[in-house]
Amino acid sequence: MSNDNFSFETKLLHNKYKVDAATGAVSVPLQHASTFHQPSVDSFGKFDYSRSLNPTREALEEIIAEMEGGTRGFAFASGMAAISTAFLLLSQGDHVIVTEDVYGGTFRMVTQVLNRFGIEHTFVDMTDLAAVKAAVQPNTKVIYAETPSNPLMKVTDIKGVSEIAKEIGALTFVDNTFMTPYLQRPLDLGADIVLHSATKFLGGHSDTLSGLAVTKDEELGARLYALQNSFGAVLGVQDAWLVMRGIKTLSVRMQQSQQSACQIAAFLKDHPLVAKVHFPGLVNHPQYEIHCKQALGPGAVLSFELENETLFKEFVQNLKLPVFGVSLGGVESILSYPAKMSHAAMPDNERQKRGISNTLLRLSVGLESPEDIISDFSQALEAGLVYLTKER
Ligand SMILES: *Cc1c(COP(=O)(O)O)cnc(C)c1O
Repeated sequence: MSNDNFSFETKLLHNKYKVDAATGAVSVPLQHASTFHQPSVDSFGKFDYSRSLNPTREALEEIIAEMEGGTRGFAFASGMAAISTAFLLLSQGDHVIVTEDVYGGTFRMVTQVLNRFGIEHTFVDMTDLAAVKAAVQPNTKVIYAETPSNPLMKVTDIKGVSEIAKEIGALTFVDNTFMTPYLQRPLDLGADIVLHSATKFLGGHSDTLSGLAVTKDEELGARLYALQNSFGAVLGVQDAWLVMRGIKTLSVRMQQSQQSACQIAAFLKDHPLVAKVHFPGLVNHPQYEIHCKQALGPGAVLSFELENETLFKEFVQNLKLPVFGVSLGGVESILSYPAKMSHAAMPDNERQKRGISNTLLRLSVGLESPEDIISDFSQALEAGLVYLTKER
């Protein structure tokens, strides 16, 4: 039986790297060497210097390439290092179309760094393909999508956007952090580069910072490799190992967290103190159908808005379970406050324009029992209500 016949879940464990060829070890060895001895003056080995290629990092790069259905993977020191390196494919005078509620760090890169190098941008609501088309300029070279987006969980039709990009000879980049290749494989839908903050679900344990990029086209892969090596923001071997360990349990973690997220979303949706829930698993999500078509599930991140700001503070203060902080995709549930955390880099007016209100909270569901999270949320909302009543 060839490996190709195995399911995605099985291949997470049974890939080329399940056993170390040299020792039989069932864990990829950590190769800390920065340089490699060469056999002779005129014959160099496969490895020469670890920025260019390192055996531990290479294992992770090949694993993610296979998971995403690509031909080459690249591991970087962070998600932003992966995203920024991919943007280096652009040249002065080029234009990029970006999802309007893009990750705050990507927003900062586009608006404060790329612009200084003469790379223009237009933010669009990518749920609207006509708006994407209308934003196209003669110099548009990249369409950058993040789906579901952060933090409003808006869904972009990856195939639709990729078709627009192909028509104009531009590339499609997709930030697949929220879904992971377990739930969504953008390359199969026509994207050219898939990007990840592996800090999140792929690593999965809130203990490493890392980024990944995957390409299918060989020429594009060679260009991205040259940039990875030139820019040099490569992933260290300890972190590469942690991400590989995280990946082994990706499917069970995603399944469990996703199932809990569905339960929690249903609870919040019916709660009188919750104004709005954003989650692609709810049938009333505006892009529910597109999401179902292109992904195997809604994932484990949702966001919601509370009725008012006074209640909001009490609610957050009374919660016992979730970690209150930035990031997502960990084994522990993480609650964050986009306006002051992930999107702090976005000016207030830009944030309001995008619907990132001051009562919006984002929850990344971990592996706790969903009943415990629901009763924790329930008591904290109740405490908020008591406070509100006293105020009046
Ligand atoms: C966290 C995140 C990033 C940035 O990744 P880092 O590893 O923090 O650099 C990019 N995109 C999304 C969707 C993220 O959640």
